[in-house]
Amino acid sequence: MVSRVIPVDPFDLVVFGGTGDLARRKILPALFRRFCSGQMEDDSRIIGAARSEHSRDEFRQMVAEAIAEFNTSTTCEAGTVEAFLERIDYVNIDAKGEEGWEDLHNLMIPGRVRAFYFSVAPSLFGDLAERLHKHGMADADSRIVVEKPFGRDLDTAKDLNATLAQHFDESQIYRIDHYLGKETVQNLMAVRFGNMLFEPLWNSQYVDHIQITVAETVGVGGRGEYYDRSGAMRDMVQNHLMQLLCLIAMEPPAKFDPDAVRDEKLKVIRALDPVEPIDIVRGQYGAKDGKPDYPTDVENPRSTSESFVALRVNISNWRWAGTPFYLRTGKKLKARSSEIAVVFKETPHSIFGEEAGRHRNILTIRLQPNEGMDLDVTIKEPGPGGMRLVDVPLDMTFADALGPDGEDVPDAYERLIMDVIRGNQTLFMRGDEVEAAWAWTDPIIEGWETRGDRPVSYDPGSSGPDDALMLMHRDGRKWREIRS
Ligand code: NAD
Repeated sequence: MVSRVIPVDPFDLVVFGGTGDLARRKILPALFRRFCSGQMEDDSRIIGAARSEHSRDEFRQMVAEAIAEFNTSTTCEAGTVEAFLERIDYVNIDAKGEEGWEDLHNLMIPGRVRAFYFSVAPSLFGDLAERLHKHGMADADSRIVVEKPFGRDLDTAKDLNATLAQHFDESQIYRIDHYLGKETVQNLMAVRFGNMLFEPLWNSQYVDHIQITVAETVGVGGRGEYYDRSGAMRDMVQNHLMQLLCLIAMEPPAKFDPDAVRDEKLKVIRALDPVEPIDIVRGQYGAKDGKPDYPTDVENPRSTSESFVALRVNISNWRWAGTPFYLRTGKKLKARSSEIAVVFKETPHSIFGEEAGRHRNILTIRLQPNEGMDLDVTIKEPGPGGMRLVDVPLDMTFADALGPDGEDVPDAYERLIMDVIRGNQTLFMRGDEVEAAWAWTDPIIEGWETRGDRPVSYDPGSSGPDDALMLMHRDGRKWREIRS
């Protein structure tokens, strides 16, 4: 099954921070892949803009190196890189000064879609918005893409929303959460709302509980200082895990329209109960095999930030009352694996008797690696040994299902950037959603600070602290194994 590629209208995309890590690893390779696929018309342009001085040729060389290092596509024809580089330009610009802004303005082609990707430190988001406006680039054809983190609490998120709103309409602001661009995440909506099979069962009557796990094997890497100011709650739960929870829990929108979808997600966030301290476990990874512990990694011996968090979350509405959502995320865990598991209740009565054991259906949505879905169904164990039951997965791995040779599953950034160009905000967070998520997160973090809570230690390469296992054990449930 080869997917149809519909070219988008010619556009100008300005990548502020075009020489930075995110641009090199994700944004530029994603654009290259869309170019390879034929989705970008030949006269679309990508303009890098950053503080460092480079000629256009030097920047093109940087882009070529980024593609060589980070592009994973195997389907591009020879000569495509050269053709792509023809579309690349560079402007030396200072977000906080006046340098370069007129040059950028002069480069813009009137009347076509212009997207400005803010891939710079969040402290510069306001400066960029203001200067775009001042230099006549905040018109009806313009849109801005804002990276995470969007604030560090409710007050800072409100301030940032207010600053951006002075220069751009909400319909022009694309707050990016790359989890929402994953093929599987969109498939979650397709599965729920495109099939008769699941939606009737998608409630507390049939679903026992839901687990959302985002596990990483890496530590904080070079981001120690930034990470330590955030911790897992701010860095992962408030945005990525919250968005996944919303997509699982939301009511069916009347149509697949940006505001209809985002209205439903907002209702979920507003229905979240406050989380009691007993329902949260925080952890910090310890030292192992000569590798430093978390406080050493972040160069803050007294750090109280968490590199792991697990929570039990309740949603107080008709659909979900009584069905807990268990969320966990952490660094230096035993495998790199992100998944959502919808664990259904057992059948009310087993006609096969006690010896057949207890079985339940589990729908697993794998975000990484190996994007896809499994549905565990109970069948008879083959053979003449009587009526013994086993659970087997119905496996839908997207790379297998989507193409004869395992056609590449598009990267989240590819989808999201093309959505910006098409003007489709469905997969981007609205300002009120972000604020509602902070309003729920803030009291949790404030509680840790006022009580002086410290994270517990866990072994690198484990599934997190033992207390996190207890969080489910005490409810008579257990976490799924973290495995890649
Ligand atoms: P980086 O430090 O690698 O790059 C920053 C870029 O901003 C550079 O191109 C630099 O030249 C430019 N810059 C700095 N000051 C400037 C100024 N005054 N005017 C114009 N340009 C200026 O940062 P990064 O890791 O690429 O992150 C960029 C944004 O993306 C941040 O908001 C970050 O939180 C977010 N983000 C990054 C990652 C990641 O994996 N790197 C992941 C998610 C979100």
